[in-house]
Amino acid sequence: MSLKSLKNLTRESLKGKRVIVRVDFNVPLNKKLEITNDVRIKRAIPTIDFLVENKAKIILMSHLGRPKGQIVNDLRLTPIAKHLSMLTGKTVMNLEDCIGASVDKELHNLRDGEIALLENLRFHKEEEKNDPIFSKQLSSLADIYVDDAFGTAHRAHASTVGIAKFLPSYAGFLIEKEINVLSKLLKNPEKPFVVILGGAKVTGKIEVVQNLIHKADSILISGGMSFTALKARGFNVGNSIIEDYDLEIVRKMLKNAEEKGTKIFLPIDFLVAKNISPDAETEMVKADSIPEDSTAVDIGEETISLFKNQLRKAKTIFWNGPVGIFEIDQFAHGTNQIAITLAEMEGKAITVVGGGDSITALEKIGLSSSISYLSTGGGASLDFLGGSKLPGIEVLLEDN
Ligand code: ADP
Ligand code: MG
Repeated sequence: MSLKSLKNLTRESLKGKRVIVRVDFNVPLNKKLEITNDVRIKRAIPTIDFLVENKAKIILMSHLGRPKGQIVNDLRLTPIAKHLSMLTGKTVMNLEDCIGASVDKELHNLRDGEIALLENLRFHKEEEKNDPIFSKQLSSLADIYVDDAFGTAHRAHASTVGIAKFLPSYAGFLIEKEINVLSKLLKNPEKPFVVILGGAKVTGKIEVVQNLIHKADSILISGGMSFTALKARGFNVGNSIIEDYDLEIVRKMLKNAEEKGTKIFLPIDFLVAKNISPDAETEMVKADSIPEDSTAVDIGEETISLFKNQLRKAKTIFWNGPVGIFEIDQFAHGTNQIAITLAEMEGKAITVVGGGDSITALEKIGLSSSISYLSTGGGASLDFLGGSKLPGIEVLLEDN
């Protein structure tokens, strides 16, 4: 897989050119509309800096939240434009829409090396429909298209796929880095390669396990998928989170892994609670003895040791999904221990963590900087590791 890379563009080909860049500025805002985490904005800075240095006219576009095709004042990109001004030390032209004559007119005032930010793409329902007319309108604002929004690469939208039909298209630095890191996991990970999966949902993760079965040496499963797997083995899981329709698929997966010689590790004990609240009474039980009226909310101490031992042998680790309901401190112990173990592997193994909640868990205990690579792409990372073609990436390939 060879991406058309932004880094191959020379100063001559960029100077004075209008470059429209799809970024992922879908950041969390509080009630006062202040940005509570700016990691996504910071990750777009290398691409923006490169374009500034090469004197392009930079037109940024992003979605924010779910306005569902309508103007929602609280989802305007104004706070982001201000924040970006601060991060880049440059005035950012903040536009009131993302298409149309007035936008076009204002953009004519943009000088070489200057930055403009279009208004929330999803104020137009055409964006998510990948509408060709809307794509064309976006493309008419620029000479070159750059995609640096890995988080939306698994969606065929006007700003990620449609627009590429109309303009020479390139991958920005963030997308390039994400694809390089994830491709290495799929192609030639340094062995032993250990995958640890948690989280609430099975859907979307089962494909990852299936695709990694013959690449990983062991797969450690916790969270929602583990209860489905335990149930598939005939265990009682009480009120623990489970998706019944996946039972058969999980059964097949376990069999497949056995045949391929990949070790699948399921939790051997759990912390269970009668209800999911910070003051709930808890109990540590073996995996085959989850009480009927209880929910498994975290992995137990023996499982933590088992998982730690596997992780410590690894040269490559991929982690997606907290191993317990980490939002409640009482149930965060297992997740914290996994995070600490990965952080301790710094310098000894390549550690890649994907998924918003897993990254949040790492940040919560201040360990994210000890991880080799934080993959920002949630669903996109999982789809890619599951073997799917990402529509937003396909349009950036060399022979496209
Ligand atoms: P990520 O965002 O890292 O991809 P997911 O979104 O798949 O992770 O899953 C995160 C969610 O999974 C968290 O909200 C967490 O509370 C939940 N979770 C983890 N373990 C359990 C469990 N045993 N029971 C219920 N929910 C769980
Ligand atoms: Mg999540």
